[in-house]
Amino acid sequence: MNLENRIERSKSAELFEEAKKYFPGGVNSPVRAFKSVSGPPLFVKRGYGCRFTDEDDNKYIDFCCSWGPLILGHNHPNIRESVLKTVTYGTSFGTPTRLGNEIGQLILDNNRFIDKIRFVSSGTEAVMSALRLARGVTGKSKVIKFDGCYHGHVDSLLVKAGSGLATFGVSTSAGIPASFAKETIVLPLNNPEILEETLQKHGDDIACIIIEPVPANNGLLLQDKSFLECLRLKCYKYGVLLIFDEVISGFRVGFEGAAGYYNIQPDIITYGKIIGGGMPVGAYGASHEIMGHVSPDGPVYQAGTLSANPVAMSAGLAAVKELLQPDFYENLAQKTTKFIQSIQQHCDQKGYDVNMVQIGSIFWVTFTKDRIMEADQIDPKSMDKFKVLHHELLQRGVYLGPSGYEVGFVSHAHQAADLEEAAQKICESMDVVFAG
Ligand SMILES: *Cc1c(COP(=O)(O)O)cnc(C)c1O
Repeated sequence: MNLENRIERSKSAELFEEAKKYFPGGVNSPVRAFKSVSGPPLFVKRGYGCRFTDEDDNKYIDFCCSWGPLILGHNHPNIRESVLKTVTYGTSFGTPTRLGNEIGQLILDNNRFIDKIRFVSSGTEAVMSALRLARGVTGKSKVIKFDGCYHGHVDSLLVKAGSGLATFGVSTSAGIPASFAKETIVLPLNNPEILEETLQKHGDDIACIIIEPVPANNGLLLQDKSFLECLRLKCYKYGVLLIFDEVISGFRVGFEGAAGYYNIQPDIITYGKIIGGGMPVGAYGASHEIMGHVSPDGPVYQAGTLSANPVAMSAGLAAVKELLQPDFYENLAQKTTKFIQSIQQHCDQKGYDVNMVQIGSIFWVTFTKDRIMEADQIDPKSMDKFKVLHHELLQRGVYLGPSGYEVGFVSHAHQAADLEEAAQKICESMDVVFAG
């Protein structure tokens, strides 16, 4: 079978050429540009369930799921109906709405880790606000983050560890003043000793530690629970707030996110992605006491013209209701495990150096047998293999996010038959990857 000719991407290619006239790199978010894989990005025109269709009418089983939000798959009927109904009454009022109360109540009634929540419009905005809140509460300014965790495009968090003896970060993007980057200390994951040393030295200046408790933006760097517990204890010890950035793990590894999964109480939690049911929503939450610092109750200013937009709230509400169905997360994790194991078995039988990492419905393909827990353990050369895999999968109608540093997501809409079909295609593609 000549797979090269099986899919045609000419309409996507044409649209991409046109898009380059309008948008930097032809996109409105950089990783969409397919720079680390080959060919033009897909221009997608519709999705239903676990599949979407591009402008050339190719269909794909989608494991990117809009980078995480679509835990119910594309175009879930309840979300669609809820949005359509809400839109008939208007799209935005700039006032509180009953819908906001409904989703607020539903989330807080089912989450032991936060008492109050504030809605914003993106994950980045949630993180930015959480940092300000931590600084406002503690009166301190510095932040510890971990190499390999992504927290949106917040100035002071687009930072990597300084070289040599430098403790404070250096920015990874142009346009960030050195003075902002200096507010951030970047540490390796999974290393309690360095953490303790840093806190001993700088604890008096550190407002908060921010971590993705399930680091899923630079591969899936699953940490031992003991490291997360250690973070918790050290934060208490040094008067530092612990922020769990759960923009990806929130409502994904369980309704209560990673806080619930590991049963660890952070001080502030950020949400995004799933919480909006496919619409632009972010949020941050904490105890009554900490949230009491947020304006208008307290002195930490934070606002948003379209915050808790009713259309977005109605999408989020419809989504969150589904997540509360009995056994929702157990079923999702079970079918993901079956899917991942079937690929792993194939690779093991053939002797391929592949390790499929999984937690709940998140997975990551690694081209090594080693367990990867820190960012610098990822071999950049393995990305050549991912590139071939990605290409072969597109030819066969399976869509992964266009970078080997990205994780995949299984949704409620991926049925057993879809996952069997996808697993078979992934195994075939692995054969091509390792034939070369
Ligand atoms: C996606 C993500 C963000 C940024 O959210 P946006 O909605 O893209 O601004 C922040 N933190 C984590 C952990 C994320 O996964």
